[in-house]
Amino acid sequence: MTTTVTDVQTADADGSTISWDPIFDEVGLPKDSSNIYTQTVAAMLHAADIINLRHRCRIILAQPKNEIMVHFPVRMDDGHHQLFKGYRVQHNNAIGPYKGGLRFHPDVHLDDVKSLAFLMSMKCSLVRVPFGGGKGGVKCDPRQLSAGELERVARRFTAAIANDIGPDYDIPAPDMGTNAQVMAWIADTYMQIGGRHERDPGAVVTGKPIAIGGSLGREKATGQGVVDVLREMLPDLDIPIDDMRVSILGFGNVGSWAGRILYDMGANIVSVMDHTGAIRNDEGLDAHALADHCAEHGGVAGFEKRAATTGTGKHSGQGGTVISEDEFWTTPSDVFIPAALEGMVNEERAKQLHTRVVAEAANAPTTPEGEKVLHQRGIEIIPDMLCNAGGVTVSYFEWVQNRSNVTWDVEQVDRELNRIMCMAARRTIVARQKYETDMRTAAYVASLEHLGDVYANRGIWP
Ligand code: NAD
Repeated sequence: MTTTVTDVQTADADGSTISWDPIFDEVGLPKDSSNIYTQTVAAMLHAADIINLRHRCRIILAQPKNEIMVHFPVRMDDGHHQLFKGYRVQHNNAIGPYKGGLRFHPDVHLDDVKSLAFLMSMKCSLVRVPFGGGKGGVKCDPRQLSAGELERVARRFTAAIANDIGPDYDIPAPDMGTNAQVMAWIADTYMQIGGRHERDPGAVVTGKPIAIGGSLGREKATGQGVVDVLREMLPDLDIPIDDMRVSILGFGNVGSWAGRILYDMGANIVSVMDHTGAIRNDEGLDAHALADHCAEHGGVAGFEKRAATTGTGKHSGQGGTVISEDEFWTTPSDVFIPAALEGMVNEERAKQLHTRVVAEAANAPTTPEGEKVLHQRGIEIIPDMLCNAGGVTVSYFEWVQNRSNVTWDVEQVDRELNRIMCMAARRTIVARQKYETDMRTAAYVASLEHLGDVYANRGIWP
């Protein structure tokens, strides 16, 4: 998503002036190369040029269809009311209903949500699940909210957007700061107020607890998808999964599941950093014990004190040593997995990285400047739209199961996920070879080719 603005425009000799694609003016986008949405559109237009995508598709994709912003009051535990701001951006639904996560985080902004919604359109098209792209969020810090406050925020936000979502129209899912419990509250609220006349209103969200229609395998799906893609791509790069060294930034849902699955396959998880601190063990951390510790204590901090008594696998019981942020970024690894916030692999950090592959488990973790440095240093990037598409893929399976009143066992979920992820990885590799381009542009190309076909077949009404 973050292929650079300067890749698609020309700079003056001193690099100070950028000549912008006329589409920026045509659709009224800010010509600001530091704006995350501008970067997203620039990357798309670059890939669109390669395949001569029709002008009408380019302008449609350059802006989301709907940008919804709501403000809603919530009663806090001390009795006062606080006003919250929420967003739902519906980028494109040419292929199917809008689909994408809801993020609860203090830094949620409209432009971030727009780019994430855009990325969802690209991701669903790349993996060929029949969904469009959406994203949403509430500006809040869930760690500072009590369980009751969090529930009231989730329910009031759902009430605020209830007319704009639905199982056939827009289907949210978990993202940063939200989880299966939040999805359960959203589903329940929607059933009470919005969708009581629908056949299966619970299908309004995915990532639900199993008891109310969630899919087996959904919780680990994004991490599992990261691993499926790595297994498909690493042999080409001569990196064997067993014994490879992995560093992980962010050990929440995505990072910890990718870490645990890789650990079970024999990889050495050599360093992990999250918002509470960083830890290292060149012999390999015990990923299961670390995930349990994070669940109990809210982050990796304090893991170094754990007694080496639990866990399974070859690094069973292995704790680690506390390291600084700089040490984390310079820890030698074969694969670096950013699984936290956007933009963390910036120019400075990209220069520090001592790795061969960056597998973008997070959305948009690499800035355009960071990406340039990684390319210059010959570090391969497996782009977010491919790497973390496992989540939306199993969300699609959940939606299919809800709508057809069937339950798949976890083997079926894993098998189908693996099939879809491997095909998407192959599609990307083929586009890369055909157009002799980087992996991110190749993923855009493979995605836009499909969207272009859909628009060519559907036409544009009236
Ligand atoms: P999460 O809330 O479960 O975990 C986020 C992790 O990031 C935590 O470990 C947190 O400590 C860490 N983090 C936050 N701020 C940090 C900082 N300043 N420095 C270091 N670490 C920090 O979120 P998640 O669901 O695992 O999502 C992570 C990323 O993956 C996001 O970009 C999200 O959009 C993307 N993603 C998630 C899913 C999914 O199914 N959950 C699917 C696709 C993409």
